[in-house]
Amino acid sequence: MFGKVLIANRGEIALRVHRACKELGIQTVAVHSTADANAMHVRLADESVCIGPPAAKDSYLNIASIIAAAEITGADAIHPGYGFLSENARFAEIVAAHDLTFIGPSAEHIRVMGDKITAKETIGKAGIPLVPGSDGAVRTVDEGRKIAKEIGYPVLVKAASGGGGRGMKLARTEDDIESAILNAQSEAKAAFGDDSVYLEKYLELPRHIEIQIAADSHGNVIHLGERDCSLQRRHQKVLEEALSPVLTDEQRAEIGEITRSAIEKLGYLGVGTVEYLYENGKFYFIEMNTRLQVEHPITEQVTDLDLVREQISIAAGNKLTLRQEDVKFNGHAIECRINAEDPRTFAPSPGRITDFHAPGGPGVRFDSAVYDGYMIPPHYDSMIGKLIVYGDSRELCLARLRRALSETVLTGVKSTIPLFEELLDNPEFQRGEYNIHWLENWLAEDD
Ligand code: ADP
Repeated sequence: MFGKVLIANRGEIALRVHRACKELGIQTVAVHSTADANAMHVRLADESVCIGPPAAKDSYLNIASIIAAAEITGADAIHPGYGFLSENARFAEIVAAHDLTFIGPSAEHIRVMGDKITAKETIGKAGIPLVPGSDGAVRTVDEGRKIAKEIGYPVLVKAASGGGGRGMKLARTEDDIESAILNAQSEAKAAFGDDSVYLEKYLELPRHIEIQIAADSHGNVIHLGERDCSLQRRHQKVLEEALSPVLTDEQRAEIGEITRSAIEKLGYLGVGTVEYLYENGKFYFIEMNTRLQVEHPITEQVTDLDLVREQISIAAGNKLTLRQEDVKFNGHAIECRINAEDPRTFAPSPGRITDFHAPGGPGVRFDSAVYDGYMIPPHYDSMIGKLIVYGDSRELCLARLRRALSETVLTGVKSTIPLFEELLDNPEFQRGEYNIHWLENWLAEDD
């Protein structure tokens, strides 16, 4: 096992990784920007190094400073968390070139999956079902128009380097295709410095269902079931459930095995997520994430496996602790992303948390790095914490969620707690009857 791990991240995920390290007897190094000098991950880590000013590009994305911090402190490995450098293939290469272990997959796998066009091609060859679409990049409007006609409208124009729902434009009919392609290209160029786009059939009422996988360096690969992340706003996840309210055990076993065996064929190492859209009983691959995900705790709760511990252990060369036949699913889990945002307009609301009390009791987990008097800096994402509830049944989770939300004390900033309280009153949500558009329609209705 590693002696010392540098955590190249901030917020709740830096704390989550720190906790896993401590339970494994590993020393931790926190890195932080000047805006995060008083952050919880810095306070709890065994050592900390300031790596730059507040802007992420000068601190949490500053590869030279992070490598220097690892060398100065004598760390053996770097955990990238999610976001920031977690899916940066060059960073993974540079880490390895400095004789440090990158806690994640190979740079090659990150690169292939980071480009959605090469990802689709690679994963399709490994036997995973795809959304019908263009065979690779679409370069001109004329080419796009021709391919869209073949696929059939509506079509979605997507950025090859896309992430966070950016660079995605819908064309309902041929009249929209030119502006969809040009807008997707310019948005992608501005956000990712790459204007490659491709086309996909636009699925009207799918659910977003993703399969968690884990693979060690001894050739063992397992899947850990699915998470239903259909409740989204602007293609961003808001609330997630494990397992999905709509899949049968047979469907889970089938898509789980298709995913597991494809990942095995790719020779992948580490944890990862294969994302699908699910409509009319069929799965369609959309992308693979080569990192730990925000919503990983709900899988931990239903499988009783510590994914971060497993991830670190795999990176150190150990075998997976479970074989596929040992993976059992127990009960249900739900996660709410509680953000410092206006619950109606979603405008960010950074500032000082004047009073804070986390919910607790049976079946409640609150993954967060905030505390009484904490100043949420305006420079990063607006997450306050992830409220995770779990229990024998979905019904019990809904009751626990209501109870936990009502216990939470959070003053000084606006939060999305009222949104979740209102959502819990909705009969369709209560019955698990929703798709990827449901939340936005419900929000629009309420206005
Ligand atoms: P990103 O990397 O930007 O998050 P994804 O490819 O993962 O992009 O898609 C994000 C979300 O966008 C999906 O969860 C889904 O809601 C929507 N989406 C993506 N592809 C399609 C499609 N072909 N049809 C309908 N919705 C889609």
